[in-house]
Amino acid sequence: MGPVDAAQLLDLDRAHVWHPYGPMPGTVRPFLVESAAGVRLRLAEPVGGHDELIDGMSSWWAAIHGYRHPELDAAVRGQLDSMSHVMFGGLTHRPAVELASRLVELTPEPLQHVFLADSGSVSVEVALKMCLQYWQSVGRPEKRRVLTWRGGYHGDTFHPMSVCDPEGGMHQLWGGVLPRQLFAAEPPAGYDAPADPEYVAHLADLIERHAGELAAVIVEPVVQGAGGMRFHSPDYLTALRELCDAHDVLLVFDEIATGFGRTGELFAADHAGVSPDVMCLGKALTGGYLTMAATLCTSRIAEGISRGEVPVLAHGPTFMGNPLAAAVANASIDLLLRQDWRTEVKRLESTLHTALAPCAQQPGVADVRVLGAIGVVQLAAPVDMAAATAAAAEHGVWLRPFRDLIYTMPPYISTDRDVAAIGRAVTAAAVASAAASAS
Ligand SMILES: *Cc1c(COP(=O)(O)O)cnc(C)c1O
Repeated sequence: MGPVDAAQLLDLDRAHVWHPYGPMPGTVRPFLVESAAGVRLRLAEPVGGHDELIDGMSSWWAAIHGYRHPELDAAVRGQLDSMSHVMFGGLTHRPAVELASRLVELTPEPLQHVFLADSGSVSVEVALKMCLQYWQSVGRPEKRRVLTWRGGYHGDTFHPMSVCDPEGGMHQLWGGVLPRQLFAAEPPAGYDAPADPEYVAHLADLIERHAGELAAVIVEPVVQGAGGMRFHSPDYLTALRELCDAHDVLLVFDEIATGFGRTGELFAADHAGVSPDVMCLGKALTGGYLTMAATLCTSRIAEGISRGEVPVLAHGPTFMGNPLAAAVANASIDLLLRQDWRTEVKRLESTLHTALAPCAQQPGVADVRVLGAIGVVQLAAPVDMAAATAAAAEHGVWLRPFRDLIYTMPPYISTDRDVAAIGRAVTAAAVASAAASAS
């Protein structure tokens, strides 16, 4: 195929390329990105009069240091000079060993063993497999159901889908296909809201009654992301830890979105000071450069599995431990920890508060909330995607709303001016969406 221009590329895209949650052929024309640097996406064709858009999404939580960061670029280039990939069965290498050791050091102390997977969904598959196989191995195969609370999101492959919110996760499409898990009600909203004893009693009742068949509880700690961008009190994590201990159920924290400082602590589990038995990391792990995720577990789980009838963890992706991804993950973690990330995230939190405050007064806005470097505007009706995206682009900002939510999690390097622009764009998107739904 010869060189093609932007219009031809977009035609080919529409005809042949699936996009996330998209129909075929595509109905909404995507923006064609030519390059990206810092917090800006450079477009092949101007949109809303802008050649560049400020990225309000960090490419879905991942690009915490922005694009083309010199240190991250250098890490990938340096690794290219020694090897891009080798299989991980029977072989090992420095980037992966260093990364795994770093993750063990950074995460709560009981987490000692690391499985490097190739995407977040796969890391959740591995987390659930670890839990189910643990109970198999210790002679309790009947413990194979999973409990979660509603409003969650854990990925798009089948076992993770089974613990996504039943409505948001489109479970009606998959009756008879998905394993039937147990659902508690959504955790009461509000990071600062004191724990509701009735809700804790509800969790206790479910865990107690089903302990005999429960392998694990899996939740997103503190922030439920793609399931609805809701925040809850860390006290519920403490309650879950106590209940799981009391009833011999494993606890899994899915920190794929919340990890690496986004909520104001390095990991959301740190808000509660509790450790899960299994933790999933992804998204920002490689600074948004390459796909990689990690599942960490305790020695109890690892030893249980390794003493079982099938004494191995039966999982091994082709691209497991990819050296390029591991090298850039190491560089991204170095970069994060070398700076005062806590102060930076605090700065973003207060700037987002100020930038989104005007939104609360707009008609059609139901709620505005901010936690760490996450800002959320919830509308009273589903977002008109076309109107909202166009309004944001006119303000020079890339946003990707979903359902009734216009939200942003900017790269940590965003300046106060960038965040102010994002705030104006979110407000404009909310206004445009409300006007479009009213007409
Ligand atoms: C994004 C996400 C996943 C899935 O990760 P992928 O890399 O998209 O497969 C799982 N859990 C949470 C909490 C996520 O935010």
